[in-house]
Amino acid sequence: MDNFHFDTQTVHFQKKMDDRNVSKSKPIYQTSAFSFNDLDDMEDFFRGKKEFLYTRYSNPNSEDLGEGVAKLEGAPKGVATSSGMSAILAGILAVVENGDHIIASEDLYGGTYQLLANELRTFGIEVSFVSFEDHTFIKSALKPNTKLIYSESVTNPLLRVENISEIVRLAKANNLVTMIDNTFATPYLLQPYKLGVDLVVHSATKYIGGHSDVTAGVLVGNESLVTKAKAKVINLGSNLSPFESWLACRGLKTLSVRMERQVRNAQALANTLRKNPSINVYYPEAVSEKGNGAIVSIDLGDKIDLHQFFKSLSWIKIVPTLAGVETTVTYPLGTSHRSVPDETRKKLGITKGLVRISLGIEDANDITMAFEKAIEGSTI
Ligand SMILES: *Cc1c(COP(=O)(O)O)cnc(C)c1O
Repeated sequence: MDNFHFDTQTVHFQKKMDDRNVSKSKPIYQTSAFSFNDLDDMEDFFRGKKEFLYTRYSNPNSEDLGEGVAKLEGAPKGVATSSGMSAILAGILAVVENGDHIIASEDLYGGTYQLLANELRTFGIEVSFVSFEDHTFIKSALKPNTKLIYSESVTNPLLRVENISEIVRLAKANNLVTMIDNTFATPYLLQPYKLGVDLVVHSATKYIGGHSDVTAGVLVGNESLVTKAKAKVINLGSNLSPFESWLACRGLKTLSVRMERQVRNAQALANTLRKNPSINVYYPEAVSEKGNGAIVSIDLGDKIDLHQFFKSLSWIKIVPTLAGVETTVTYPLGTSHRSVPDETRKKLGITKGLVRISLGIEDANDITMAFEKAIEGSTI
């Protein structure tokens, strides 16, 4: 290439890597497509001897993320997507089509509720939202065209723990597919696939990424459903970019150590706040033998000035997400549940004093101190 003209040199200046140079960190395959040396080499892709052709179909970095989470969930196959929402959509469209019916829990993540309630209707897909606290409601919602039962392993923001085995049993008895959003629990705490769930979905934007710097999703599950979902991802163009995949993979490597600390901090904060009789603490029990999650929700009741409380939190910021390494708080009534009708809100327990706390990896003493001070300084 040395005797090429300037305009050619500017394009072809990079050295080809050979396999004597092995990078410790997985390289970012920041490419839209893969190149071939000759027609036989290209034919190898179609013979199944080569994995990659075009990044929207598949890329080494997004493949790493999908397969990595699948392994941790104990599932045979996974696919990475552009967001948690697109992972949910791909999973659902792998199961239902025009004319089918879904039974979904009524206390879903706000975005999922919007997708199911508003968008799926335009595909001719019917959704019934019922309380999953008592599974007789699921039974009464069954229709001849029901195909899917959808819920979350741990719900937002009141942290109800789903009885997954019971849902699987009910679904199997009625020949239905089950899909569970496992974002809050993560595979560190719960592995719904191992309990018989067909499709497990994650917003990797949360604990899998873990650093609030990437928007991503992952869907894992049985071979045939995830293969179908992957075709949806390809056709809808909701693949995850190489760099975002790489970032999420980097996050995934530290999932265990982050969760271990964050869960411990959550338990410590819940224990402390429970000593205050004017605060109602939502923190589940018996989620798994590794602990009960890293989110604590509290209802400040009417003896604490809400505005003063948020102002007094010093280094703890109000952030409308969760799961980062920093401790943060959100106000569900002002953000995620802003557009939920009053009546539904009341039913779901989204009150004026409700605050959701996402525990970070800081020292538990500093976190507890910050909340105790804020409560003390805002008590009426
Ligand atoms: C954030 C979240 C989603 C949506 O994920 P995005 O990555 O924002 O698209 C879905 N489910 C739950 C439980 C979430 O917390």
